[in-house]
Amino acid sequence: MTETTTETFVPPTRFAVPGRIAVNTRTATTWQTATLTEIRGETPHAATFRFAVPAWEGHLPGQHLLLRLTAGDGYAAQRHYSIASSPDDTGHIELTLDHVDGGEVSGWFHTVARPGDSVEVRGPLSGFFAWPGDRPALLVGAGSGVVPLMSMLRHHRARTMDVPLRLLVSARSPEELIYAREYGDETTAVFTRRAQNGAPVGRMAAAHVAPFLAEQPPGGWEAYICGSNGFAEHASRLLVEAGQPVDRIRIERFG
Ligand SMILES: Cc1cc2nc3c(=O)[nH]c(=O)nc-3n(C[C@H](O)[C@H](O)[C@H](O)COP(=O)(O)OP(=O)(O)OC[C@H]3O[C@@H](n4cnc5c(N)ncnc54)[C@H](O)[C@@H]3O)c2cc1C
Repeated sequence: MTETTTETFVPPTRFAVPGRIAVNTRTATTWQTATLTEIRGETPHAATFRFAVPAWEGHLPGQHLLLRLTAGDGYAAQRHYSIASSPDDTGHIELTLDHVDGGEVSGWFHTVARPGDSVEVRGPLSGFFAWPGDRPALLVGAGSGVVPLMSMLRHHRARTMDVPLRLLVSARSPEELIYAREYGDETTAVFTRRAQNGAPVGRMAAAHVAPFLAEQPPGGWEAYICGSNGFAEHASRLLVEAGQPVDRIRIERFG
């Protein structure tokens, strides 16, 4: 859909309540086959895996799913993954996985998986981290924590929304910045180990957050933070110290 609208996206059989969005209990408990159709490298350690899931009923940006791999002997491994694609990508979902050293599931995806392979998925899950597109969103992520935030950014673009959305993302270096080619003026990147053209390097700090909090949109920001436990603690402290109300910070932790 490309027309200009700020309508709230409401997938079928779901309803919104303040602060929390109900999860469709039927799709949340039903395993569906997802067929891998494409693999795209994002960084040396992360790739996007595109799946056809014909009966996928849609999701809200920020939601995740449960993925199950089953071996020939019946051994199964399940992991949670955020959905990277926009809800308008009907019948398809995209996941972006970091290759974790020695990781069972991410290792299989990065070294074995080929287009045509099938896995099982169940979801979408978690209404709390979802962004329906109805309020200004301040997104803060690190590493693969940017994945659910990218679904929000893609949704914002696909619907040409007017509601303010800003993204502050941290990565080790420009090469390790996931989705680097897709960012626009809404995004500020912070590099912790190496930057280009002598730009400063270091941990996300108060000075990175301050400009966003100074620019208060009508109704204020709803903040969404995603990353490791350590990053989530650090980023939420920065936001609270900069004046963001605690009850308007939503956090998703990857491990
Ligand atoms: C809600 C949610 C959403 C998530 N979304 C994403 C996503 O979009 N993309 C993504 O790449 N991951 C995501 N994760 C993490 C994902 O679920 C797995 O934990 C990750 O892929 C590792 O699984 P594995 O089977 O490869 O490693 P495992 O075999 O489970 O672990 C191998 C080793 O790596 C360590 N380890 C496990 N996970 C991590 C990690 N994340 N970082 C560093 N070391 C680790 C383990 O302690 C162990 O020593 C998400 C997690 C949650 C809870």
